[in-house]
Amino acid sequence: MDRKPGQGLLRERGVVLRSSDSAEGDRSIYVLLENEGPQWLLAPGAARGRVRFGGSTDPLVWGTFHVYRGPNRWYLRDIDVRKDFWPLRRFSTKIRRAVGWASSLVKYTLPGHPCNELLPVFYWSLCLLEGSDLREDLAGWRFYWRWLRSWGIAPDLDNCQSCGALLEEALFCGESLLCRKCSGSRKGIDLERKDLCELRASSEMCHEDFLANAGRFSISSEKTASAARILERILADRT
Ligand SMILES: [Zn+2]
Repeated sequence: MDRKPGQGLLRERGVVLRSSDSAEGDRSIYVLLENEGPQWLLAPGAARGRVRFGGSTDPLVWGTFHVYRGPNRWYLRDIDVRKDFWPLRRFSTKIRRAVGWASSLVKYTLPGHPCNELLPVFYWSLCLLEGSDLREDLAGWRFYWRWLRSWGIAPDLDNCQSCGALLEEALFCGESLLCRKCSGSRKGIDLERKDLCELRASSEMCHEDFLANAGRFSISSEKTASAARILERILADRT
């Protein structure tokens, strides 16, 4: 396999983040590829009914992508599909959330810059959505927090950002958590002891424990969603 920069064949695992069809009947897919980062791959004629790829070029399809790197663009030759997450499409809220995560990956990663650490975060988050009735807001918090942690920019959930004191309850404001003393009259998300424990657990539990326990969490979905929005804003500010 030719792996030097420039032309040649390439075979990498990855996931389709978005796809778009041209008026001429060509399909382009934007794929987060292992070792290569996000890349556009062109599949000439694939949108016109000369369907070689079927549903395998749809967003959220995981597999091994066979690519030809031409002088100016990269071409999709084939896909060995590993998992298509098709069952998510039966639930409008689940598919909307999954597509939202894919959009974040499009927005907050750079084309051509490898980010292998995000592939398992995304994959296992989709598995959570697909395989259970657990709260999607918690899965969303977990997705963004694990993404930020893999980049070393997740907010500290244990200690006050200002004075370092161990947090039992906190105000989540700006991009960090503050203890009662340091937060003063600032505005933010008020996290009681129980809320903070559950956010920590949602971030750090292994996949199986999270599946087994998340049904017992009682933090309000508004708080979780607001906290996840802060995490997304951290990503937005960084890019
Ligand atoms: Zn403090």
